[in-house]
Amino acid sequence: MQLIKNYFPALSYLDPASEAEFRLYLVASTRHIAQRLALICALLLLVFSATDIILGDQWHSLNNLSRFIAAILIVGFAIYNRRLTPDHWLQGWLAIAALVLLLLAVTFYSSAQYFGKLGEGGPLVVAFALAAIPIFNLQQKLLLWLQLSASILFLKYCTDTNTGWTLFYLSITLLLCLSWQRQFDILLRSQFKTVRLEQQKAETDQLTGLLNRRSFEQRLQQKLQQLPPGQQLSLGLLDIDYFKRYNDHYGHLDGDLVLVQLSRLLSADPKLLVVRFGGEEFILVEQHSASSRSTLLQLPDKLAAMAIPHQNSPFGVVTASIGIITLNYPASGYQSGQLMQQADQLLYQAKQQGRNQARQQFLASTVQQATSSA
Ligand code: GH3
Ligand code: MG
Ligand code: MG
Repeated sequence: MQLIKNYFPALSYLDPASEAEFRLYLVASTRHIAQRLALICALLLLVFSATDIILGDQWHSLNNLSRFIAAILIVGFAIYNRRLTPDHWLQGWLAIAALVLLLLAVTFYSSAQYFGKLGEGGPLVVAFALAAIPIFNLQQKLLLWLQLSASILFLKYCTDTNTGWTLFYLSITLLLCLSWQRQFDILLRSQFKTVRLEQQKAETDQLTGLLNRRSFEQRLQQKLQQLPPGQQLSLGLLDIDYFKRYNDHYGHLDGDLVLVQLSRLLSADPKLLVVRFGGEEFILVEQHSASSRSTLLQLPDKLAAMAIPHQNSPFGVVTASIGIITLNYPASGYQSGQLMQQADQLLYQAKQQGRNQARQQFLASTVQQATSSA
């Protein structure tokens, strides 16, 4: 069982969650190409029919009718599938591919009857066309190739069709296609891993592992736009107090450790979006009910309670100040730059008022004095 699993990269190369993520990534990046390829296949079917008609076949022969139905199925699904989710889209194309293969088996049969023999070219072109579809993995293509082989076997042993060397050439082609598709599956997944790693690196801060400033903007806009009625969004700008003095006294490496400890405290709450804005400044975004207070208000107290010694601070321990802007639904009209500027002003006020405290402002209302741990 494990041996079979190892042969299929889609079952063994990534963990199940990453494989699902990869599928979405693959559909998003190849959706248009797959669609265009399908339309080219439909066009090819019509070209084959046109050639047959020129050679004397009737337009309504079984051969041509099955090609027309296959082309209509492809074009019809290409038009219909726009609103489907990636998984349904993928399953839909798989079902269409299986149906088209069935219709092509009818075409093979009737054109073999007409020409007296099944040419090797048709099934090989179909095998290669399946290989070229970018969205299916090895297992899915294997099933389709098996269906194609089964239809040729059926024609050879269950009908009076002369299949010539078709099965021989098809077997060799499929062996090559299988090995090629396996390598392709591995390559695509390893490329996905690299892209994801690069993305994570570009979005996270090396020292703390938190999101960095670069990735913040888009996420905040998303949160602003998706804020539901009855909820509030609080954005806090937190800055460590007297941190320069800490570095001067304890050294830069110990300073780094404080940043890591603070990051752990901030990211302990999974509901918070935590970003290292730069240096010893952090941005926090929290969505909470309009009737409850923001938990960001408690952060100065929580940090002070960690009691990290700071001899050169009047508090004796590492503390921080935070400016918090809170806004109501609908929040989609606010810009992140404008919110940051106001949070920065509140942080400045908190520093001026003695540090180790939070200052909060409700947008479109007056400034409200919040907690003070001083
Ligand atoms: P205030 O209470 O007014 O915020 O005083 P402060 O000394 O904290 O403020 P200031 O902005 O003057 O100093 C920030 C210091 O943060 C300066 C720099 O040495 C330190 N810092 C910035 N980034 C890092 C870092 O990655 N590691 C360490 N250890 N220190 C950093
Ligand atoms: Mg600072
Ligand atoms: Mg500071």
